[in-house]
Amino acid sequence: MASLSLRHINKVYPNGFEAVKDFNLEIEDKEFIIFVGPSGCGKSTTLRMVAGLEEISSGELRIGDKVVNDVEPKDRDIAMVFQNYALYPHMTVYDNMAFGLKLREVPKPEIDKMVREAAKILDLEKLLDRKPKALSGGQRQRVAMGRAIVRNPKVFLMDEPLSNLDAKLRGQMRIEISKLHQRLGTTIIYVTHDQTEAMTLGTRIVVMNAGVVQQVDTPRKLYDEP
Ligand code: ADP
Ligand code: ADP
Repeated sequence: MASLSLRHINKVYPNGFEAVKDFNLEIEDKEFIIFVGPSGCGKSTTLRMVAGLEEISSGELRIGDKVVNDVEPKDRDIAMVFQNYALYPHMTVYDNMAFGLKLREVPKPEIDKMVREAAKILDLEKLLDRKPKALSGGQRQRVAMGRAIVRNPKVFLMDEPLSNLDAKLRGQMRIEISKLHQRLGTTIIYVTHDQTEAMTLGTRIVVMNAGVVQQVDTPRKLYDEP
């Protein structure tokens, strides 16, 4: 069964602009899907529709076998990591990671267990009492990911999560993300401009242009010389 399916998805913004046109994709469990394409081609819009942050104009979005077009973001089995970590500056790492669980009224002992497990996976155990400004760039990015993985979502969305990091850290985090994908066995959709990230992380790459999917292929088929 596909873990996520996008069928004839369209997005028309209120000003009439057609940002996504007839997007079709069946994503299997545990796939690592990469969206590439020039700035403004509709990658973020698509991701935001999957997350429920942007209304779908027409078409059908399924998670598992359930149509979720009208399901609120917090009730979709999905978590999203943005490029600007968007951590709450006044909260500790622990509270940043617990926030989404509190919102969903998860019992406290369970929250504690989930936060500590995620912290362990991301090597954040010693930083739980720190506030974001006392963290390095890479640590902040790990907290942003921690906030997403605590809920153990079925689908993980990442919009250029490494674009604000320097080259060295980006390389390290790429390896972290790859490990995370294997360890969690989750389905990932990942937007990037970086060909190395696309090639090393992706199981399939979706090439978009002007709101249209132009090609869907494995990294090998897409980037190797014929
Ligand atoms: P990408 O992520 O590929 O850079 P986006 O999905 O952010 O592209 O944007 C796709 C297109 O939709 C762009 O041309 C952008 O200007 C336009 N767009 C984004 N948000 C809105 C909006 N709220 N209203 C109108 N047009 C928008
Ligand atoms: P990077 O160059 O990798 O982004 P920084 O130079 O910001 O990292 O920080 C290096 C180390 O110092 C990190 O391990 C970070 O946790 C620690 N650190 C940075 N700022 C503070 C702070 N205000 N209090 C405690 N530790 C800090």
